[in-house]
Amino acid sequence: MSKPFDIDLGSLTGHAPPIGVVPSHLVEPGNRGTFFLETFGCQMNDHDSEKVAGVLLSRGYQQVESPEAAGLILYNTCSIREKAAQKVFSRLGEYRERQGEGKVIGVLGCVAQQEGEDIFERAPWVSLVCGSASYRKLPELIAQLEAGSQRVTGLETDTDETFETEMTRRDNPWRAYLTIIEGCDKACSYCVVPYTRGPERSRASGAILREVRQLAELGYSEVQLLGQTVNSYADPTPGKMRFAELLLAVAGVPGIRRVRFTTSHPSDFTRDIVEAIETETKICDHVHLPVQSGSTKVLRAMQRTYSREEYLAKIAMIRGAKRPIAITTDIIVGFPGESEPEFEETLSLLEEVKYDSLFSFKYSPRPNTPSLKMPDAIPEEEKSRRLALLQEKQREIQTARNGSLVGKTFEVLVSGKSRKENQWSGYTSSHRVVNFASREQELLGTYIQVRVTSATPNSLVGEHAV
Ligand code: SF4
Repeated sequence: MSKPFDIDLGSLTGHAPPIGVVPSHLVEPGNRGTFFLETFGCQMNDHDSEKVAGVLLSRGYQQVESPEAAGLILYNTCSIREKAAQKVFSRLGEYRERQGEGKVIGVLGCVAQQEGEDIFERAPWVSLVCGSASYRKLPELIAQLEAGSQRVTGLETDTDETFETEMTRRDNPWRAYLTIIEGCDKACSYCVVPYTRGPERSRASGAILREVRQLAELGYSEVQLLGQTVNSYADPTPGKMRFAELLLAVAGVPGIRRVRFTTSHPSDFTRDIVEAIETETKICDHVHLPVQSGSTKVLRAMQRTYSREEYLAKIAMIRGAKRPIAITTDIIVGFPGESEPEFEETLSLLEEVKYDSLFSFKYSPRPNTPSLKMPDAIPEEEKSRRLALLQEKQREIQTARNGSLVGKTFEVLVSGKSRKENQWSGYTSSHRVVNFASREQELLGTYIQVRVTSATPNSLVGEHAV
């Protein structure tokens, strides 16, 4: 499929070549002062990579666009699903020969945490293994490598510190990601995060606000607060700012026009968050609230800490807000023991909530998780059938929801320009993608009004309303 935009929307999640990366032809291949950083996984990983890049740039390294051009090759890995972890090892295999060329290869992130020193057994050409809970040690580990150490590791999870850096190299020129809470204290039975990212640690509210002020001065107008359970934020300073108060304080920073946050945990989703969205329009009208299953029995087996009814009560609270709030979710199908009627409860939940969008996955067993040993695994074909049914139902819902927006006008942050003349794209506050026409020449990074003229299940089409 051809790429429709000169500035790919993928750059918004850091999957396109980051800004400031030196083209390969301008550096001597394999120069020791250069690094290549590839990221797998979620937004938290994308942002961790931005911070890792900041650490290396502040030590005088240059970031290059290919592993061939780099002296240091780093993979920031994800192990949330089996496929993602496999991909890391197959990628590492591709670079086996590179070590002989004097390159240093490092594995960061969740696979590093999960596999630990076993990575050195499986891929002896790797020199650095550092889990996401130990990134604060990264500058020290890099210094050891520079001093000639052959193998260095950072694998502790018993830390109460967060990964603070003096400099973060951000990939997106308008939206800045900011981790406010790392790790997770929940214990969902299928999830590797408590194991790979360690216990919950929140950043001090003062440090967060200082960084937001710096970002605004640098020209960022949208800030996205990140955490595995972002709304479980617990300010470690005496002021004990609540999450909803933090949202309002961030929105109050001059120059900030949009504040997003993800991912919220239903059990910690409180009314004051809805009230903050109601009173401050700079806080985006979008909540990502993973449900995972519509069946209380399956939720119990997943150790999700809420029932279907409790979750629906949170949805009713959000839907009752004074301005409409888009709701998106994550769903896992084929959890061990999930019966057909229990799966149908998930379908009926979709009908009831009418999500604006969802991410759906087939259950995949992960090492070190309690669900690994659960009986009654669902066959792969059955998981695929359920996933297809779920996605078809959601497609119908999104077709109707997006269709109902035709004729309405929304503010859009313009973030993409098509090669086709006069065609642009951007995001609404509710995080819908809008492709639209405008005769203006310079729109990137600006906020404009767009009138929706038609809709597809995954995006809106519109025209610049002047
Ligand atoms: S809330 Fe559950 S799914 Fe989310 S990171 Fe924590 S343990 Fe994993």
